[in-house]
Amino acid sequence: MGNYYIVDGHCDSLINYVNRERSLVDPSEGGHWDTHRARLGGVALQFMAAFIETKYKPAMSTWRGLQLLEGAHRFIESNPEQVFLIRDKFDLKQIPDPNRIGVLLSVEGGEILGEDIFMLEVIFKLGVRALGLTWNQRNALADGVGEIGTQSKLTNFGQNVVLKMNQLGMLIDVSHLNEAGFWHVLELSKAPITASHSCAKTLCSHRRNLTDKQLSAIARNKGVVGINFYPEFLKEDGKASRADVIRHICHIAEVAGVETVGLGSDFDGIDIAPEGLGHVGEYYYLLEDLTRAGFSTSEIAQIAGENFMRLLSDVMK
Ligand SMILES: [Zn+2]
Repeated sequence: MGNYYIVDGHCDSLINYVNRERSLVDPSEGGHWDTHRARLGGVALQFMAAFIETKYKPAMSTWRGLQLLEGAHRFIESNPEQVFLIRDKFDLKQIPDPNRIGVLLSVEGGEILGEDIFMLEVIFKLGVRALGLTWNQRNALADGVGEIGTQSKLTNFGQNVVLKMNQLGMLIDVSHLNEAGFWHVLELSKAPITASHSCAKTLCSHRRNLTDKQLSAIARNKGVVGINFYPEFLKEDGKASRADVIRHICHIAEVAGVETVGLGSDFDGIDIAPEGLGHVGEYYYLLEDLTRAGFSTSEIAQIAGENFMRLLSDVMK
């Protein structure tokens, strides 16, 4: 549809690839995301997360993280006609490529670093350009949203990680981070940040969602919020449709400006997708709905992909 291209700030499909459950190039294998359907849906750039599952934490976090990153490289090298790795601003300029989807590697969980900053350099050299400081639990950097009642800010190590990420040109991701940590990151970071896959708490009171105050702070920081498609984050009864994704887009655009809104599906990380948006190939319908909701052509282009592109070119070297 039109000239829109999509940048999706989060998917967890790499786990399926590494576990040899799917090739991520063949839609008949199921799941939410593969290169074929991503092309149909208009995806030009996909953040692919190395999500470190709870069963590996804490002792095996680095091991599992590196295993996922090795798998990501294997996926990219095995499919040179479908995907290419985004490492720097030059690569970014190739987006949208007429034939291939750009892949931005991210890690979901600072526990991959253990307690040593040199590991940040290691994953940077492995092509990682975004890092979620925590998942829901506490790690050596900070507390996740699952730590109730601690109200902890970042540890010394977490603060060093933020500053080093600024220096390297890595995108700081605050989805899953607790609120005290969120404010601490905004105080410290010299670069804009993302909440790559989060929704609005005013519309759905879930610990993973962001308050209006947080949303406007991200706007002031020139960051981007990627709307998560998980029904439980979209609607309190957990029965969500594409219309609820539109509601969250409208709300965040109202509170924080259109330039703050992006998409962060969480495909293959969520067990259920919203009705009418069952996989990445159905992005097309979401863009049609945005037209119906009254967004202009240029606003839809921003929400679909340009906002995340602006953020990446502000952050990356
Ligand atoms: Zn997540």
